[in-house]
Amino acid sequence: MIDKEKIEQAVTLLLEGMGEDASREGLKETPRRIARMYEEIFAGIGQTPKEHLGKTFSVEEGGMVLEKDIVFYSTCEHHLLPFYGKVHIAYIPDGKVVGLSKLARTVEIYAKRPQLQERLTVQVADALMEYLKPQGAMVVVEAEHMCMTMRGVKKPGARTVTVAARGTFEKDKDLQEEFWHMLERV
Ligand code: ZN
Repeated sequence: MIDKEKIEQAVTLLLEGMGEDASREGLKETPRRIARMYEEIFAGIGQTPKEHLGKTFSVEEGGMVLEKDIVFYSTCEHHLLPFYGKVHIAYIPDGKVVGLSKLARTVEIYAKRPQLQERLTVQVADALMEYLKPQGAMVVVEAEHMCMTMRGVKKPGARTVTVAARGTFEKDKDLQEEFWHMLERV
């Protein structure tokens, strides 16, 4: 659970540390606003996608399921600045599929916490394997990191791409090829 009082105190200290006057008009309500905002943007801490990915439907046979362009917003744990972009998820069902909105919920749970893009990618792939038990899963995350673009290390718009392949996607390069092909085309 988020301790809003603690966050408010911390933000006041942070502002003072910057050399700001934390009591001036524009900043007076800032600690409280940030505490409320953190409750929302870090709502994934301690959550698992079990309840979402646990609700499955049976299918007789299934080819690749691809859910493209799931928009997410997360927070880099090294700088507490946003990174955001899109997640693409594919899996080959083994008798079970899940509602498409549940994939988006899963992304949200892992995005709404202090995070690394690499870990977000792996956690979504592993959650699919654990709860849905497909033959294979593939997750691609493309994101822009404010800690890079704001500080001028990289140009704005530069994207970082991370990939996690599990099960058949890990072993079967043709399948991976098919995935990339579908991702470009649809
Ligand atoms: Zn960062």
